[in-house]
Amino acid sequence: MGSNTVINDVIIVGTGAAGLFCALNLPENLKVLIITKDKIERSDSFIAQGGISTLRDSQDYDAYFEDTIRAGHYKNTNESVKVMIESSPQVIKDLVNFNVDFDHTDKGFSYTREGGHSQPRILHKKDTTGEEISSKLLIAVQKRENIIIEENTIMLDIICSMNSCKGIVVQNTAKEIYPLYTKTVVFATGGIGGLFQHSTNFRNITGDAIAIAINHHIKLKDLECIQIHPTALYSKAPGRRFLISESVRGEGAILLNSKKERFVDELLPRDVVAKAIKNEMLKDGTDYVYLSLENLDPEKIKIRFPNIYQRCLEEGYDITKECIPVIPAQHYFMGGIEVDLIGKTSMENLFAIGETSCNGVHGQNRLGSNSLLESVVFSKRCAEYISKNIQSIICDIIPVDVKSYNYEKLQQHYKQLILDEIRRRDAKFYEQWFSNENKN
Ligand SMILES: Cc1cc2nc3c(=O)[nH]c(=O)nc-3n(C[C@H](O)[C@H](O)[C@H](O)COP(=O)(O)OP(=O)(O)OC[C@H]3O[C@@H](n4cnc5c(N)ncnc54)[C@H](O)[C@@H]3O)c2cc1C
Repeated sequence: MGSNTVINDVIIVGTGAAGLFCALNLPENLKVLIITKDKIERSDSFIAQGGISTLRDSQDYDAYFEDTIRAGHYKNTNESVKVMIESSPQVIKDLVNFNVDFDHTDKGFSYTREGGHSQPRILHKKDTTGEEISSKLLIAVQKRENIIIEENTIMLDIICSMNSCKGIVVQNTAKEIYPLYTKTVVFATGGIGGLFQHSTNFRNITGDAIAIAINHHIKLKDLECIQIHPTALYSKAPGRRFLISESVRGEGAILLNSKKERFVDELLPRDVVAKAIKNEMLKDGTDYVYLSLENLDPEKIKIRFPNIYQRCLEEGYDITKECIPVIPAQHYFMGGIEVDLIGKTSMENLFAIGETSCNGVHGQNRLGSNSLLESVVFSKRCAEYISKNIQSIICDIIPVDVKSYNYEKLQQHYKQLILDEIRRRDAKFYEQWFSNENKN
């Protein structure tokens, strides 16, 4: 590609569930470009395992609301929680209409449970729910003639004037740097896990939109709220840590210390379980604790968790017969670019959705399986708002000095900006979990 004269209606940055679902909810007469810095599938949405939460019926509303805000330490924005829960049955219908095939029993959907949920309300496709949802959304996107996807195209910066966004600056695989102009930009760039040594996220998910927001004084929220997942498979190898989904504990797996003793209620919220594991590791001087699936039927394990079973086998562990070593790892970013209930940021014509945004729905700690739900609920609302308002937006072509950009230097600078900001906001938390990260 590389055109600087074409004006798009909407540029979406990111091909995860948020970006794809936003694109699908825009009218087909809009010219939509989606870019992603890597291959389409290297988005965390494709590797989500456990599932997507939903309101089971109207009687579940109060319990679901309470579970979400209890997990969030009552720091959630209640209006966001309300919108997410109330919208969940409709977006699940939308997903099914895009051919997403959730597991069923003969009585209907099969619901599972994760830590912090007072009852099973999580829809899943075995243990590869994210792949099921994202790949079906991708198929639908690829059928739309108004949507183009460009892989291996990295957003380096935004183009803006007078607090109004006019486009983005990108670099392609040939290392060409050029501006892309558009009426609206939607950040759907995911979390920040790629900045950390131990994270379940893809390495390319490095919070670039957050750094760009810091640089351009776009409002941010709850940047210090980072979720540590209690159970990633322990490994010394470089790369992302393989997640052992919370639904494994939801189905009955237990945590054991080095003396093979249980030390925590495994279904407490993630932050509580992660802290308990860290304490146990410090007390015993070990690098991990154990997860035991001894209470689960081996045949059921293979059917319900085929992906986890297979991956652990590849790492030398048969989870139907033995405990596996697990550690807490960075997993999710509750904070992000501050947005309202339709994804509007503090800059005109700039929106943020999915994990990179923060409308306060998760409070200080996300309830399991609420993030895929949040991504689709608020990306749809964002698309609906853009659809109604785009006609009045005029895009100006503002010249950009592309020679001033150097991706390698920018990467380091962006990482530093984000880590410094997190530490500034919560030095104690930063030191507890990430004291080794910021060596450069
Ligand atoms: C292992 C794992 C398991 C999970 N399991 C669950 C679960 O069971 N249920 C649940 O609800 N949530 C789960 N989550 C969380 C959930 O997957 C994510 O929060 C959600 O998918 C985020 O979606 P997203 O669209 O915002 O971002 P992502 O899916 O991460 O997509 C981000 C996109 O932005 C692109 N991008 C980033 N920076 C740039 C740039 N500078 N230029 C161009 N493109 C860029 C990336 O390439 C990518 O395409 C899990 C997460 C992980 C890591």
